Amino acid sequence: MKLYKVLAVVLNSREMRDAHRILTLFSKEQGKIRVVAHGVTKPTSRKRGAVQPFSVTDFLLRQGRDMDSISECEGREFFPGMWADLDKLLYAGHIAEIVDALTMDGNPHESLFVHIIKTLRELDKTVDPELVVRWFELRLMALLGYLPDLTGCVNCGSEVNGPAVSFSAQAGGLVCTSCAVGVDSISCNMGTVAVMQTLLCWDIDKINRLRVAQPARAQMYSIMREYLQWHMERRSRSMHFMDKLNNFIPVNK
Ligand SMILES: [Zn+2]
Repeated sequence: MKLYKVLAVVLNSREMRDAHRILTLFSKEQGKIRVVAHGVTKPTSRKRGAVQPFSVTDFLLRQGRDMDSISECEGREFFPGMWADLDKLLYAGHIAEIVDALTMDGNPHESLFVHIIKTLRELDKTVDPELVVRWFELRLMALLGYLPDLTGCVNCGSEVNGPAVSFSAQAGGLVCTSCAVGVDSISCNMGTVAVMQTLLCWDIDKINRLRVAQPARAQMYSIMREYLQWHMERRSRSMHFMDKLNNFIPVNK
């Protein structure tokens, strides 16, 4: 059977029978792939660290009839700061889940791979994981071609200004007062939109300089929550934890 190498981040790991696991990887070379890891949950397995979620690992994979499997692996990065902080772990789980939900198997995207690793590195050391994750969510949407329009009304093109504006996930961005009529939308302040625009143009290593007040954080969360769910076409499991972290009370529609 043919062997091949990939460098990948482990998005998740699901238990199977006999100490086997199925891993979802996001690799530099092939994008998202699913592989079998034989016997890795045994306490004696040397592969355990390298296959745990969020590790960045060099894999030697063996082609299989149904699914490829791990022949050898060597972990490169493990993010101990993230594993020592429950909130950060929940954020990392959210990152992994939205990447898994919004990408297709075997579709290489090297820039997305680089962005995932950059985000995990920053999450490992940051004191503000929430902003790091908002940065990633916006970048992810931009990289996948779903960048929300935050410059003017996405529907009629007119300028949106004034202290309060509306964001519509369905329309794909800001909507002016007349286009917001009859459309599901979230009202937010222009200040919040400005923070999102900043996140979109700043690189991740600069965002620890940003000071964002609680109301703007709450609005950004509501917007990204709605926008991600719209594109994922289902509620993510991690969203439940995200709601708790953000003290968000969902409104039943
Ligand atoms: Zn309009």
